[in-house]
Amino acid sequence: MARVADERVFIYRVDAQNRIGFVNRAWLDFAQENEAPELIAERVLGRELDAFIADWETRHLYEIIYERVRQAGRTFYLPLRCDSPTRRRYLRMEISPLPLAGMEFSVRVERMEERSPILLLDDSVEHSKEFVVICSWCKKIEIGAGRWAEIEDATEKAEIFGAAPPSLTHTACPDCLATIRRQLGDG
Ligand SMILES: [Zn+2]
Repeated sequence: MARVADERVFIYRVDAQNRIGFVNRAWLDFAQENEAPELIAERVLGRELDAFIADWETRHLYEIIYERVRQAGRTFYLPLRCDSPTRRRYLRMEISPLPLAGMEFSVRVERMEERSPILLLDDSVEHSKEFVVICSWCKKIEIGAGRWAEIEDATEKAEIFGAAPPSLTHTACPDCLATIRRQLGDG
């Protein structure tokens, strides 16, 4: 897979109630480039972070993370994938405490790899009413009870047959749960 680079740093800040008070230009540009044109400053500022997180489990994980950042008063680092249909994007998120229980999120693209388009991640095509489970953090797909596969491997078969891709439901896979717990120092 061809490597591509993105040197930008995406920054946003929240207050004690997790309301977004600041997003930088790079963050807004990134949202525009990723078919999220609704994410303009006027619609983002003042909203709670939860509004942008799809699933309960990930929201719950983030709540634990926020609590740790605020209690420990130090920066935490988390790995994260934010893919587009044609790119694997490996991000590194840095969450730092700010005065008055605020937090700053600083996200860098560690590396990106081009790939053939993954229809499952393409919101511009119609999706069927069937659902598959995707991990919000690493983008693996649950292919059976407790079994997870890389998204390219999991989707290859379905896309050969040209069927409409299924819809997605998000969660955190066991590996990512373990990684996040380790990063937070919870053992
Ligand atoms: Zn995962």
